[in-house]
Amino acid sequence: MTTFSVDELITTAPEASCDADLAAGPWAFDLSPGYGPGASEDDVIPDPVVRPGQLPVAYQRMDEAELHARIVAAKETLGDKLVVLGHFYQRDEVVQHADFVGDSFQLANAALTRPDAETIVFCGVHFMAETADILARPEQHVILPNLAAGCSMADMADEDSVEAAWEELMELYADEDQSELASVIPVTYMNSSAALKAFCGRHGGIVCTSSNAATVLEWAFARGRRLLFFPDQHLGRNTGKAMGVPLEQMPMINPRKPGLGVDAQELRDARVLLWPGFCSVHKRFTVAQIEQARAEHPGVKVVVHPESPMPVVDAADAAGSTDFIRKFVAASEPGDVIAIGTEINLVNRLAAEYPDRTIFCLDPVICPCSTMYRIHPGYLAWVLDGLLEGEVRNEIVVDDDVAAHAKVALERMLAALPK
Ligand code: SF4
Repeated sequence: MTTFSVDELITTAPEASCDADLAAGPWAFDLSPGYGPGASEDDVIPDPVVRPGQLPVAYQRMDEAELHARIVAAKETLGDKLVVLGHFYQRDEVVQHADFVGDSFQLANAALTRPDAETIVFCGVHFMAETADILARPEQHVILPNLAAGCSMADMADEDSVEAAWEELMELYADEDQSELASVIPVTYMNSSAALKAFCGRHGGIVCTSSNAATVLEWAFARGRRLLFFPDQHLGRNTGKAMGVPLEQMPMINPRKPGLGVDAQELRDARVLLWPGFCSVHKRFTVAQIEQARAEHPGVKVVVHPESPMPVVDAADAAGSTDFIRKFVAASEPGDVIAIGTEINLVNRLAAEYPDRTIFCLDPVICPCSTMYRIHPGYLAWVLDGLLEGEVRNEIVVDDDVAAHAKVALERMLAALPK
């Protein structure tokens, strides 16, 4: 199979990527301010941001072949005691070691199929490992190979801001009759901290993923007059719009402004209250890129992820979760040309899997999710070697009380099957 390794592209031509610093190992920027290069230059950086320690130098210096051999050997020795989960957006050099590859919804389910494994190593980002820990048996350990692998979108909604906005909304809607429908149902995207999932569990809310967002919104509308959707404004808006909610009934609140920055009557008329979060990877896609793809490849099919801005989703031929995009490509014909608006690792993997089609990323710049990119094979080898030595490194442990409430919202999510 042809390799379209993003890692190889970045290290051989760093100038063609969105930040040449990506070519250095993640340990080179783990301790620098911000999230590191690539994903989040324009983001508001919350304080404090977790700063983990650096990978031992010996692992930084190992070449790819040695790291690969170590990971394979450790996995063989650990056998069924270990399960490795790999998100679609991970680099190929990591994904090839995963027992399950999928999106966050699929991986949450996959972890449940291995209750006998002593350790779950989650090659994804922080909120995914937290979710795995909440759903895992108490005796199971969940490891995130690099603790700096966060998600800039998840960090855009912190618990204090959400609590403050909630209180303001409760005050505004206090005169509404709540006997049949609640005034607001909180809905958090999977890409959020365990604390926010717990918030939803405590307040009759639910978690959604990009796979089951429409089912989750229906669930919430059956229980409430309106929803507070966080952190991703785009997924909330795109899903609401596809369900027929008028744009004027989906105001975006500003938690930093008095009155949430929205006229009180507008808040009363709202059906979906959007939080101002976004994904730094998916916000890079533009209508101009789609127009260019159509001009250069007449007949091209364009499919994008719903974390992309609404005009991009509207201009595409189809929009859906990473799993939807995979199925879209699988259902295409040899010779088809497909432009994809999602993370470059998944796009390149699909291009390698279907060499008889022309598959390319809408964004001409190589710009992986820089936080996912922090799971370098060096970190994976280091945590697996730790297990061989009886040491659980980089364990993610969610507080029991938070986990109990978050589990309520997550179980509602798991029951809300994608359409
Ligand atoms: S792709 Fe976007 S939403 Fe997903 S982990 Fe990266 S920053 Fe977060």
